[in-house]
Amino acid sequence: MAAEYFGVESNWHRAPSMKVDCPNCGGKIPGGVAFHYDNGRVCVLDWERAWLAGAVKKEDVPEPKQWWGKTSANFAEDVAIEQLRKDAASLGIEVDKRWSKETLSAKIQEALKS
Ligand SMILES: [Zn+2]
Repeated sequence: MAAEYFGVESNWHRAPSMKVDCPNCGGKIPGGVAFHYDNGRVCVLDWERAWLAGAVKKEDVPEPKQWWGKTSANFAEDVAIEQLRKDAASLGIEVDKRWSKETLSAKIQEALKS
């Protein structure tokens, strides 16, 4: 099973990539790239992947494209609330989507006491 899956995966990676128009500069680029070079300047399509590849520094990333900080904190919060909702549901609580983390915790505590 695993070998089969791996085979499919590596075939996919070997498939010739189609040239597409860059949405930033209009140049012809391989499909799915995070960045490419145009006249010696880096043209970035996906800032996070370009940063992971070492093509740009975090201080080069324009503010609307910054994926760290507040965004990841919000993400952690969402994950925590989602987990509390699951815990509450497994205790037979009818979960209201508007409940805050605190409300959910209180309801779970209540259900555990009874
Ligand atoms: Zn470009």
